[in-house]
Amino acid sequence: MKRTPTVGEILQAKGVSRRGFLKYCATTASILALPPTMIPRIAEAIESARRPSVIWLSFQECTGCTESLTRSATPTVEGLIFDAISLDYHHTLQAAAGDQAEAARHAAMEENNGDYLVLVDGSIPLANPGFSTIAGISNVDMLRETVAGAKAVVAIGSCAAFGGIPGADPNPTGAVAVSELVTDKPVMNVPGCPPIPIVMTAVLAHFLTFGELPALDKHGRPLAFYGTTIHDRCYRRPFYEQGRFAETFDDEGAKAGWCLYKLGCKGPITYNACATTKWNSGTSFPIEAGHPCLGCSEPDFWDKGGFYEPLSTGNFDSGAKLAGAAAVGAALGAVAATAGRRRQAKYTKEG
Ligand code: SF4
Ligand code: SF4
Repeated sequence: MKRTPTVGEILQAKGVSRRGFLKYCATTASILALPPTMIPRIAEAIESARRPSVIWLSFQECTGCTESLTRSATPTVEGLIFDAISLDYHHTLQAAAGDQAEAARHAAMEENNGDYLVLVDGSIPLANPGFSTIAGISNVDMLRETVAGAKAVVAIGSCAAFGGIPGADPNPTGAVAVSELVTDKPVMNVPGCPPIPIVMTAVLAHFLTFGELPALDKHGRPLAFYGTTIHDRCYRRPFYEQGRFAETFDDEGAKAGWCLYKLGCKGPITYNACATTKWNSGTSFPIEAGHPCLGCSEPDFWDKGGFYEPLSTGNFDSGAKLAGAAAVGAALGAVAATAGRRRQAKYTKEG
C-alpha cells in the first residue's frame, strides 16, 4: 500500500525551509492564542501528521465563505494549511464532477472512517428537502450520510452556524443550522458573513496539531477568535469613551475617525476577531473603512436588523432590547460609555 506522506514531508517537498516552517508554527500558536511554549509541540505534531481528509459540503449558501478563503493573498498561513490537508470534496474547487465527484466523497469517507473532518457552509432546508439537492441527494440526507463517519464537523459561516440569511424571517425553506441536525459529533461554529480566512484555517491548524477542536464559547465558536467583542479591541474605542461620535457618514466626526456607535455600530455586542486579525492579510476591517459593524457573526443578525440604527434606539429586535439602557447615554457621550460597558456585561452574562 502506498505510504501517505506526512505534513512535514509535504511542506519540505514544497520548498518550505525549516526556518519558514518554525515561523509558521509560531504564527499558528499566536493566532490560536497559545503560549510560545506550545510552538515545539505544534511543529512536532504537524511534521509527523498524515494529511487529514477534509470533506467540504456546500448547501444553502452564496459561495462567499469559499470566496473569502480563496481570495486571501499568498503565501500565507492559510495557503500552508491547505497544502497540509487533503481536500477530498469541495463543489467549487474540485476538478471532478457528477458521479466522479460523488465517488471521491464516498472513497474519502471509507478510507478515513472515523478520522476525517467535515466542513459545511450554508444552511440545510427542512421544509421541503427537495429545495436543495446535490447529485439527487437532499442536503439533509447528504449531511447525515457524510458526518456519520466523521471525527468532527465545522460549520463555516453564519448560514451553517446559525441559519444565516436563508434562515431569516420568514424562512421559506425551513433552513436550520448544522448543529440542529448533528448532535452526536463535536460541532464547531465559525460564523461570519463571511468568516475571516485565517480564522477558518487556524481551526484546521488546531485540528492538525491536537487532533481535536479548540475550546468553544456558548455558541460553539472558538474562543481564541470569538472571546472578545469588536468593541473590546476597536481602535476607535477612545473616541467612544470620550463621547465623540460621527453623526453622519460624511460629517467632521466621520472624517476625524470618531466612533461609529450612532451610525449603528453593533461592535459592542458582536464577538469576532475583525478588530485584531483584520481582513485582507491584516490590512483593514469594516470599521477602519468607516462602516459600522453589522454584527454578522452573532445568531440571527439579519432578523435583528437596524443596521444603521444605534443600539440605544430600541427600534430593532433582540439586539436593541439588550441595549435599551443606553438610550440616553449615547447622546451624552461619556455617559454612553458607561452605559455601553454595563450593556456589554449584561449581554455577556445573559447571552
Ligand atoms: S461602537 Fe463600534 S466604532 Fe465605536 S468603539 Fe465600539 S466597535 Fe468601535
Ligand atoms: S466588522 Fe462586524 S459585520 Fe463586519 S465582518 Fe466583522 S463582525 Fe461581521
